[in-house]
Amino acid sequence: MIKILKFGGTSLADAKRILSVSEIIQEESKKNQVAVVLSAPAKITNNLEKLIKYAKKKKKYKKIILKIKNKFLKIITKISNKNKNISFKDLYKIINKEIKFLKKYSKIIYLLKKCPKKIFSQIISKGEILSTYIMMHILHSKKNKIILINPVKKILSKGNILDSYVDINQSIKKIQKIKISNQSIILMPGFIAGNKKKELVLLGRNGSDYSAAILSACLRADICEIWTDVNGVLTCDPKIVDQAKTLKNMTYKNIIELSNLGAKVLHPKSIYPLKKFKIPCYIKNTFNKNFYGTKIYKKNKIKKNKYNFSITYIDNIYMCCIKINNNQIIHKIQKKLLNSIRKKYISIILFSNSINFNYINFYIEKKHFKNTNKILKKIYKNSKKNIKKIKIIKKLSIISLVKKNVIKKKDLIHKINKIFKNSQIQIINTIKNTSKNSISFIIKSKNKNSGIKLIHKIVLNKNNLIEIFLLGIGGIGKTLLKQIIQEKKSLKKKNIIIKICLISNSNKILFKENGINIKNWKEKFKKIKNKFQNKEKLIQKINQIIKKKCYVNPIIIDCTSSKEISYKYFKYIKNGFHLITANKKFNTGSIKNYKKIRNLSYKHNKKFLYETNVGGGLPIIQTIKNLKQTGDKLLKFQGILSGSLSFIFGKLDKGILFSKAVQQAKEKGLTEPDPREDLSGLDVARKLLIIAREMGYNLELKDIKIKKILPRSFKNNINVEKFLKKIKKLDQYFSKKISQSKKNKKRIRFIGTINKNGNCKVKLSEIDKKNPLYKIKNGENAFIFYSKYYQPIPLVIRGYGAGKQVTASGVFSDLLNSIL
Ligand code: ASP
Repeated sequence: MIKILKFGGTSLADAKRILSVSEIIQEESKKNQVAVVLSAPAKITNNLEKLIKYAKKKKKYKKIILKIKNKFLKIITKISNKNKNISFKDLYKIINKEIKFLKKYSKIIYLLKKCPKKIFSQIISKGEILSTYIMMHILHSKKNKIILINPVKKILSKGNILDSYVDINQSIKKIQKIKISNQSIILMPGFIAGNKKKELVLLGRNGSDYSAAILSACLRADICEIWTDVNGVLTCDPKIVDQAKTLKNMTYKNIIELSNLGAKVLHPKSIYPLKKFKIPCYIKNTFNKNFYGTKIYKKNKIKKNKYNFSITYIDNIYMCCIKINNNQIIHKIQKKLLNSIRKKYISIILFSNSINFNYINFYIEKKHFKNTNKILKKIYKNSKKNIKKIKIIKKLSIISLVKKNVIKKKDLIHKINKIFKNSQIQIINTIKNTSKNSISFIIKSKNKNSGIKLIHKIVLNKNNLIEIFLLGIGGIGKTLLKQIIQEKKSLKKKNIIIKICLISNSNKILFKENGINIKNWKEKFKKIKNKFQNKEKLIQKINQIIKKKCYVNPIIIDCTSSKEISYKYFKYIKNGFHLITANKKFNTGSIKNYKKIRNLSYKHNKKFLYETNVGGGLPIIQTIKNLKQTGDKLLKFQGILSGSLSFIFGKLDKGILFSKAVQQAKEKGLTEPDPREDLSGLDVARKLLIIAREMGYNLELKDIKIKKILPRSFKNNINVEKFLKKIKKLDQYFSKKISQSKKNKKRIRFIGTINKNGNCKVKLSEIDKKNPLYKIKNGENAFIFYSKYYQPIPLVIRGYGAGKQVTASGVFSDLLNSIL
């Protein structure tokens, strides 16, 4: 079997890597006939290019020569130190000779102030030549027989000296004349070829892939392996998306498409020879030698892939748009344009036109803009009367999704458009490529990374992905996380994937864009050292995170009781987040904001859900909404709206002392951390206000009349512990009240009412057996709705209205509702 191995610049970046490559070559040569194509060590070609540029401009070019020399000296010093059979002297001689060449010709360029193409190509190819010599010495030292192919003599090229095309048939003839014994290793520098005049020509930047493909064709190789620094063709650039996956297989057709649309993994010119001679190509990782990589081959030989898409991009793009007055002339202008562009060797990345809308659009790289602009100006000058205007948009990126038949996948395209809109990323243009296997989105360069991340997430997670940003990890927040962990698997079966991207308390943030490993979130949270000095700083940081624009279906869940966070709700919705809140502060703020947020969430098509604001997990808000939607009219309301007060007054019925009952309620987690919030009646008033507002009354918190539970004379501006001790003084006061009502066969309950005029009151009331609230105790809540439909018997909802489990499950059901 004949195998071609091509090693790119990063695989040859230093002595250690070069030695590791030599091991790969040796291992392979034991099994197969091997031909090796080498690039220059990383950055050398760029530095050689810079050297020419500096010399031309009379800048300090000598420094660059020194840099190049030192790099090679470092490499050969290390290599000869490691392997005593390699002579430093011999290698030094070779390097010195090439460095002298560079010095001599840079000086000529310096004097000429220009660089003839022939000199350019000789200088710029020195990296490949030196890597080949170094590798030859290493392999020789290990007693391998080497056949060195000089591509200037054996690979015949045509066209532009700096970016030429190989005449494959002629090259095959030349190469096949070489006598190759099957024990020897063939070595050839990449990137270089020769023209008819036997001059050294280049195959274009990154052209070593092309050299490898040509050599594969000439030797009729069985396999061509391109060794690089990534695991193969990936679903995306791993520098942008760390979750990028490797594609096991890919067709020649798709890799051509991918390369033309910007993917760097294989030079586009290399695919044609491989395809023509049906040579399978493998992309392999030098840093992960044993990884299978990606196989590129014919369509019918390709196995099914787990990952069957790839996203690529081209940055720094200019869009040129010619608006035409008269659609008769569009083809004529187009022809003129394309001819001039071809003559200037400008490559158009994407092209589209519309006879209906009279325009021609095309996209070019920044480096071609100067020449393109000249052409456009000329065309405008010659056809002034037919051209309405020429528009140029700079700083654009083209993101392309390559996937079989992608342009027919309307749902997917719709989803991408919708999510981009939600993330406020404007898609300037969408181009469905003629192959049907790729679609390109043109967006502003500043949004490139977010755009790529979004498309990757959308295609990778075909399911309903929910990305949660949880603010507040007190009782409810923590329990919610527990419930999510418990339900994760069963939700996955229903195609719902939940990712927790952010967890925060009042001074710390745990954040991972692609989702925290939630099983051990507590330990991770504990380990965070960075504490925010104050809430404002923490909230600022959260704002920065949510502005990242790379979430597919993000949801903020507010399980705090913070006013400051509630002030940010507008921002969250505007940034494309659904909002779920267990925090009552917003909904009991001004009626103006209450209305504004509903309009805003409607406008942005975002859910704003707050079922747990009233009655914990009980379906109160949803019921009111349903009644209203179905034409019912709510007339009156009465209810026990506080779990803690229901518990406390239930206990008093049984003769338990008030202070004990409060203590127990607190221990059970039924009260707010400070039980005075419950006892003040303010919490009940807040819930009553929300119910009234949901019923349609435009009220403010001050409109809810509260008759306090604790006697006015009882001063309590002390801390919680002291307060809990001091309330013992009230035990007798309440015992008296209870026995009084017992005598009247009544019970005392803390009740909220809304009468038919919308007047709201919360107060302690004595009620008799007939009232459905009479039996409410043990933390239960009860809600009695008198409505046009529900009469004479009202609609009653009762159940536990407080507690971590039920409230968290209420938040959870809001969460699931937000994706429906
Ligand atoms: N060294 C050349 C370049 O950087 C060719 C290659 O590496 O493929 O463009």
